[in-house]
Amino acid sequence: FDMFVLAFVERLFRPTYRKDDFVLGKKLGEGSFGVVYRVSLAKKPSSKEGDLVLKKATEYGAVEIWMNERVRRACANSCADFVYGFLESSAKKSGEYWLIWRFEGDATLADLIQSKEFPYNVETMILGKVQDLPKGLERENRIIQTIMRQILFALDGLHSTGIVHRDIKPQNIIFSEGSRTFKIIDLGAAADLRVGINYIPKEFLLDPRYAAPEQYIMSTQTPSAPSAPVATALSPVLWQLNLPDRFDIYSAGLIFLQMAFPGLRNDNCLIQFNRQLKRCDYDLVAWRKSVEPRCGSDLRRGFELLDLDGGIGWELLTSMVRYKARQRLSAKGALAHPYFDREGLLALSFMQ
Ligand code: ADP
Ligand code: MG
Repeated sequence: FDMFVLAFVERLFRPTYRKDDFVLGKKLGEGSFGVVYRVSLAKKPSSKEGDLVLKKATEYGAVEIWMNERVRRACANSCADFVYGFLESSAKKSGEYWLIWRFEGDATLADLIQSKEFPYNVETMILGKVQDLPKGLERENRIIQTIMRQILFALDGLHSTGIVHRDIKPQNIIFSEGSRTFKIIDLGAAADLRVGINYIPKEFLLDPRYAAPEQYIMSTQTPSAPSAPVATALSPVLWQLNLPDRFDIYSAGLIFLQMAFPGLRNDNCLIQFNRQLKRCDYDLVAWRKSVEPRCGSDLRRGFELLDLDGGIGWELLTSMVRYKARQRLSAKGALAHPYFDREGLLALSFMQ
């Protein structure tokens, strides 16, 4: 109950906004469930507010506001900084949910991995300076390791809060220029299992390019849509039984794969990879056996990178991308994996 009062008081003292407070800027994205704009405030308040981002969302907006409020209180650093959300009902339509975040930066991980410079473009963004070291696999591995650590750290925050994202992909990972780290965005498909919000998986929300093979987060034996109090009582057990967080781990593993293999960074290649992996019954080792003997220099470079330090990167990848959810590492488990023992970019800057 105290938590409820605290949340209420905190909300009272936060600025509230209405439709007319915003001046629309550039359109940043448009999905099936909403449109995202960069916006600024019509009247700049005394406190200095930077640029903001507005999402005008349809029916899933209510859930997305709930998720963002929860993240704000429980694991603020995992996701983009949420400012405010409200139902805008003056619109002619039945009403839209408006969600406001602080503008974190121009680039998502999807933009960054498409660059020929990747991962060196990210190195400069994280360190703020150009490294005076020879380019090569070792250095690329350190940068990718740092990005993976940040993604897993953010995921661990969400999962520890009881939230499964369900749409982890490079397009939903933003580089925060303020903190020089990667953060997660787009909680529109997320599920909060502790209180049963968005409990029934909306499988049509899932992006087939990054979705784990189980599709449904909970097994089919799970009773569907229990009322909220029942879900609260049951969910820690269900969490243990079904390990729904491992769905995000699979997606994060595919991001790791795309960073390691330049040839798998574009959509068509990823779709083709998914087909090949399915044919190998989701066994990465079997996939490797089938492609390595006849693969081009592009794929070979990825294997070389993952084989560094006794193949510790490959070991991590194969512990994330697995058919059975319970055989995948958790976010915490992945962070404790020996792949992260070396200090990544920090060690690099000390070496100078
Ligand atoms: P959807 O995928 O439902 O259209 P997202 O929440 O993923 O909506 O946002 C769409 C795009 O808007 C993102 O890919 C990103 O480019 C941009 N964006 C979203 N939130 C922020 C933010 N806080 N700061 C900067 N850009 C953002
Ligand atoms: Mg998105």
